Amino acid sequence: MRFLVDGMLGNMTRWLRLLGHDVAYENLSDDNELLLRTRLESRILLTADVELFRLAKRRGLQAVLVKGNSAVENLSKLSKKLTLPLVFDQMKSRCPACGSPLSQVAKSSIEGRVPKRSYQKYDKFWTCLESSCSKVYWRGSHWSKIEQTLNKAKE
Ligand SMILES: [Zn+2]
Repeated sequence: MRFLVDGMLGNMTRWLRLLGHDVAYENLSDDNELLLRTRLESRILLTADVELFRLAKRRGLQAVLVKGNSAVENLSKLSKKLTLPLVFDQMKSRCPACGSPLSQVAKSSIEGRVPKRSYQKYDKFWTCLESSCSKVYWRGSHWSKIEQTLNKAKE
């Protein structure tokens, strides 16, 4: 799915990219620009702003009001509203930082770009394909937390 996320929901942006969605994040645009982009790019608007949500609905746009207190609550709501599967697929996952596709890379190619300990401990690494970002990812100790959050949101 394609989303446009407003400035207050940076955390949801990272979650949805991790789940493989095309997420644009707008921090500075005014409401009209946000709504215009939502329409032009056929995105679903996610916002915590009730006024903006109502405005989007009045203009016939797809929008979800996201006002939960935690990632679990927000993911759970989105999943129900949009029948969005909360399943991680490493083939589809996108860079949480910039939204570009990721590609699995040979371990040797990222030596020196990740902490030594992680390099020794893990075997699978991914990099962001956007050259200006090119972050490296691996399923480190934080991974079980990510899975816990997804599982809780599915309950
Ligand atoms: Zn990136």
